[in-house]
Amino acid sequence: MEFIPISEPNIGEKELNNVIDCIKSTWISSIGKYITEFENSFSSYCGVKYGVSVANGTLALQLALKSLNIGFGDEVIIPNLTFVATANAVTYLGAKPVLVDCEIETWNIDPTKIEKAITSKTKAIIPVHLYGHPCNMDPIMSIAKKYNLKVIEDAAEAHGSEYKGKKVGSIGDIGCFSFYGNKTITTGEGGMCITNNKTLANKMRFLKDHGMSTKKRYWHKEIGYNFRMTNMQAAIGCAQIEKIDKFIDIKRKNAFIYNSFLKDCAEIILPPEKEWAKNTFWLYSILLKNTNINQLIKKLKEKNIDSRRFFYPINVLPPYKQKGDYKVSNMLSKNGISLPSSVNLTEEKIKYICHSLLEILREISGNSSSNTRRF
Ligand SMILES: *Cc1c(COP(=O)(O)O)cnc(C)c1O
Repeated sequence: MEFIPISEPNIGEKELNNVIDCIKSTWISSIGKYITEFENSFSSYCGVKYGVSVANGTLALQLALKSLNIGFGDEVIIPNLTFVATANAVTYLGAKPVLVDCEIETWNIDPTKIEKAITSKTKAIIPVHLYGHPCNMDPIMSIAKKYNLKVIEDAAEAHGSEYKGKKVGSIGDIGCFSFYGNKTITTGEGGMCITNNKTLANKMRFLKDHGMSTKKRYWHKEIGYNFRMTNMQAAIGCAQIEKIDKFIDIKRKNAFIYNSFLKDCAEIILPPEKEWAKNTFWLYSILLKNTNINQLIKKLKEKNIDSRRFFYPINVLPPYKQKGDYKVSNMLSKNGISLPSSVNLTEEKIKYICHSLLEILREISGNSSSNTRRF
């Protein structure tokens, strides 16, 4: 079998034609028709009024935090299991990411553990919809309301995922997305903040363009940034957004094919999909009860199958190293693995991946260094 990557972008004629059109027009910087078109089409896809494009997903988080006046001395609650960008964005602003453990049911931030982490310095919560499964938003929103906190959704891995029929990113004050090459839709590098709040949208537009007055050019009454997306990136995005529903349908169909082959293996825990959730399975991910993940990844590679361990929990990374009640996130990180999840995947390849995985598990079962029999 040829090498099967964990995730590869699906780029077609339309993307190519849009980029050619963009280059021929010479509007290759951050002004141009594709920018507005992409902001409008993506935000309306999410059911939200305003979209503010940025150069990548990390900047989307940073811009969202800054527009909510979060800065030095403030605390922001984030899940302990996430991509490091969530924590870094908070740190860049001089604020402190406060780590909260995750729940087994969704692999996302555990809403029952948030209140304990709130102090007089807490300003916001960033729930992360990990691997495409939405967070349990109702309890998060009511805690935010009770303590007057802002909610920024990190939806970088969950374009189109739904919580009780609502698209993620549309529930909190601001939703942040990434369009990196391996995300559900891509612009190469890219990101967007979405919101229904006009004041916040204007503030973000102002801040991402050097804090320049819209009425008086080159008048900067605040220190802003250059976080702008290019028209070329947006040109790709305009073609991608047309296909997003098709991509999600394929990802869900592929996930159910994976499930059907893996469901009878006692060693494997399938990815969650709560009754209130539509999971878009950004990366099809499973937990293994008693297997050495690194060994498994190596063996899969020998069979030309790319796979990836879960993120390391933030609390073990050198810049954020700390002790605390992080049992679940550490367990998930230790036992989780993501399997190839490209839209281009065929049923034959999924069958090959599952067959190989089950074979390897039979082969290596018993000689494991992991001890998580408490599932
Ligand atoms: C990808 C990702 C980001 C950051 O996006 P970039 O575009 O790579 O900067 C942030 N949060 C999460 C959870 C991500 O997966």
